[in-house]
Amino acid sequence: MGSDSELFKSAGSGGQTGGFLDALRAFVLALAVLAAGQIALGQSESPTVFPEVIDARVSTTPQRARLILDLSGPTEFAIASLDAPNRIAIDVRAEGIRFAVPADVAGSGVVSSYTIEMAETGRARTLLTLAEPAQVQQAYVLDAVADQPARLVVDLILDTPEGFAARVANDLAAAVANQGVAPQTAPTDPGTHAAIAETRPLVVIDPGHGGIDNGASAPNGTHEKDITLAFALQLQDVLVKSGRFDVALTREDDSFLRLEQRVALARENKADLFISLHADSFQQKEIRGASVYTRDENATDVLDKVLAENENKTDIIAGFAMPEMTPAVVDILVDLMRRQMRRQSFVAAQSIIHQLEPSVTLRRFPVRQADFFVLQAPDVPSILVELGFLSNGNDIANLQKSDWRDRVVDALARGIADYFDGLDEPLVAQQTQ
Ligand code: ZN
Repeated sequence: MGSDSELFKSAGSGGQTGGFLDALRAFVLALAVLAAGQIALGQSESPTVFPEVIDARVSTTPQRARLILDLSGPTEFAIASLDAPNRIAIDVRAEGIRFAVPADVAGSGVVSSYTIEMAETGRARTLLTLAEPAQVQQAYVLDAVADQPARLVVDLILDTPEGFAARVANDLAAAVANQGVAPQTAPTDPGTHAAIAETRPLVVIDPGHGGIDNGASAPNGTHEKDITLAFALQLQDVLVKSGRFDVALTREDDSFLRLEQRVALARENKADLFISLHADSFQQKEIRGASVYTRDENATDVLDKVLAENENKTDIIAGFAMPEMTPAVVDILVDLMRRQMRRQSFVAAQSIIHQLEPSVTLRRFPVRQADFFVLQAPDVPSILVELGFLSNGNDIANLQKSDWRDRVVDALARGIADYFDGLDEPLVAQQTQ
């Protein structure tokens, strides 16, 4: 964990950009104020003292970006999308900005540069200039914990050009109407925030099926795709609130995704754990209960095929590879990596089953192996949770009860936390020592 100055590499707009860019930035900001000056922040009842923005940093990859604003206290925020050029504006209620110029964007990808200025009294505006259309995946304020200040965290993921354009139009309409958007406020429950590390593990949750693919269906018309999405959204919420994880969903609505897209999302973002959620059906209606699958150890054919066709093997071990490595050494490392991922997947499955056991009915032999396509990533520990079966009456009833969902989601979250608690050694180091 280096200092911030080490983390920020040179890119984008720094402090030495000169007159033209400064003028351009001022112009862009003026446009933004016109377009989004009315981002609803809500009216505060009393003349409260707003916090100051202490620091700001932005990091990005080609798939994601994250803004962190350090604050002298929790505050309200609001977000809007702007075009020409594509930007995302994040307004916070703040008394002032306690630092001079934002540092450069660390990494390269979704966000190319950013600025932060007082848009008006009591309102600090951060403008993220996008290299690709992007949308907010999650945004939340964390209370100060130990020596960490309060923070606003905004995570962006890629969006389609159409999706982005629609958001711009919506936000503009809301701004013109000068109403609508309710302020998003911080999670207020104190004591739920663990200490925030500089980097947190990324958990990718994959709600099974979606769109034209309903998955299994209960006799009453309930579809698996809706159940998996409800569980996924709630699990994301619980994990994010724990302050320990970044959480991405393969889908956030009723959209169709191909299986390889689900795997690719986890791989491209270098996820630390991939969890696919399902509630399938069986011909034998008496079979019921929750279970967790890892990939079949013997299903090497598909895996090798995927490796051969889609992957640059060196890419899989990026971060460990040295330029002078021979192909044989690379093969060995890939094989070690793959075996390590299978082991970790199994440990994750056990951790989750261990937590589910006290609260829900489990299938006989609840940790299982099968050749599920979505479990094939050679570099991401991957598990598939069958929450229950839509072919069994008891399970159908449970899967639709919110208190049962609460119990299962909390158990899944505890299992995930236990799994990460058990990981302390770097992967390859563990293998080669
Ligand atoms: Zn399914």
